[in-house]
Amino acid sequence: MEHDWINPCAGVECYSCMWCDGGLEMCRNCHAFEGATPDECPQKEMDWQMADLVYKGIINFRDGNWYGECAQVMRPVYDLDNYMAEHGYIRDGLNNAGNPKWSKIENGTDSIPVPIHEASVPGSINRNEEQPPT
Ligand SMILES: [Zn+2]
Ligand SMILES: [Zn+2]
Repeated sequence: MEHDWINPCAGVECYSCMWCDGGLEMCRNCHAFEGATPDECPQKEMDWQMADLVYKGIINFRDGNWYGECAQVMRPVYDLDNYMAEHGYIRDGLNNAGNPKWSKIENGTDSIPVPIHEASVPGSINRNEEQPPT
């Protein structure tokens, strides 16, 4: 089942919370948001610990079951090399800024996917302050 995305801001758009301001959405059914989003919706509210395990790339829900694997949304963080390889790129040293350089391999796709750096994923900063409003 797919997630059912809503703006959970008390049902009203205030334009001053992280949901309205950041354009974030949360799943109505499992409360997934951002990196704590399994591939498919478990249709049941995840508690904080489960959401955290999804966020850390440890568990994922698909095909009606939980698996000990990284959800697609977090693969650019936890499974970056495989993720890039599937898009036709391999790691090729570092650029001047010290970030990984990626070289296209044969049969690679035309456009390079932009890897998400962990620090740029909202929710990695302080989960305690970023809990969805209840
Ligand atoms: Zn709001
Ligand atoms: Zn969901």
